[in-house]
Amino acid sequence: MITNSYNKATDILLQSNYTAAFTGAGISVESGIPPFRGENGLWNKYDPGVLDLDHFYKNPQASWEVIKEIFYDYFGTTKPNPAHNVLGQMENDGMVKEVITQNIDNLHQAGGSKTVHEFHGNSHRLTCMECSRKYGFENVNFENIPPRCDCGGLLKPDFIFFGEMIPQDALQASQHAAENAEVFIVIGSTGEVYPAAQIPFIAKQNGAKIIEVNIKTSLFTNQITDILLLGKASQVMQQLYETIKSKKNQ
Ligand code: NAD
Repeated sequence: MITNSYNKATDILLQSNYTAAFTGAGISVESGIPPFRGENGLWNKYDPGVLDLDHFYKNPQASWEVIKEIFYDYFGTTKPNPAHNVLGQMENDGMVKEVITQNIDNLHQAGGSKTVHEFHGNSHRLTCMECSRKYGFENVNFENIPPRCDCGGLLKPDFIFFGEMIPQDALQASQHAAENAEVFIVIGSTGEVYPAAQIPFIAKQNGAKIIEVNIKTSLFTNQITDILLLGKASQVMQQLYETIKSKKNQ
């Protein structure tokens, strides 16, 4: 049976020898980044086809105009919120071993998390499609679209487009976590995006307890969630962390 007890969640976390967090777009909503799906989702405004790899190569100018607006004008100035910061703090305290994120916004690193497996890559890096040179986004001139490498090659953001493989290192690390973790904290994810959504299911099959944080139920909830903490990620994660601290001091 699913419970919604902070007390129970805290007990499980304090007993765990290996806790991993798995995050989706919901954790960054309070940083001002809308999710793709749902009521205020970006796909209500933009055509997801801009992130199709074939479309990108055939129409780099048109693709880049939208990519720049979504991922660089828009995401570029955002800051971590308390949910990112709590995860960073929990890693620092030795309570969370790693974060597996579907997000590409770099906000876990900005919030203090050190071990972050980026299942879908990161928008803050770009790669030249000709010579493979890497660029930090702060070193790219976005005034000329599409942005180009010094060699003249087309730059592509280092997040995965539709039709691209999941980065091998992130996939392996996520599978390792799913096979070994005793607790998974799943924050702000619909469970609709595959293959990422498999990871909490594999964790559950291997005996992990699932603590879910979301403003509403997801595809995970009725299938694998043990404890559902309903609410905005920042509020829930702060309350969880406060409960942990007060239990530790008892
Ligand atoms: P998703 O699976 O990432 O789902 C978003 C979830 O967040 C929903 O379940 C929603 O109920 C929940 N949510 C919304 N506000 C919340 C809040 N304040 N606190 C807690 N939960 C909240 O689905 P998606 O948005 O369609 O994303 C598709 C893919 O694209 C995912 O891999 C996602 O990570 C990625 N994406 C990344 C970013 C980013 O980097 N910030 C933004 C959009 C999408």
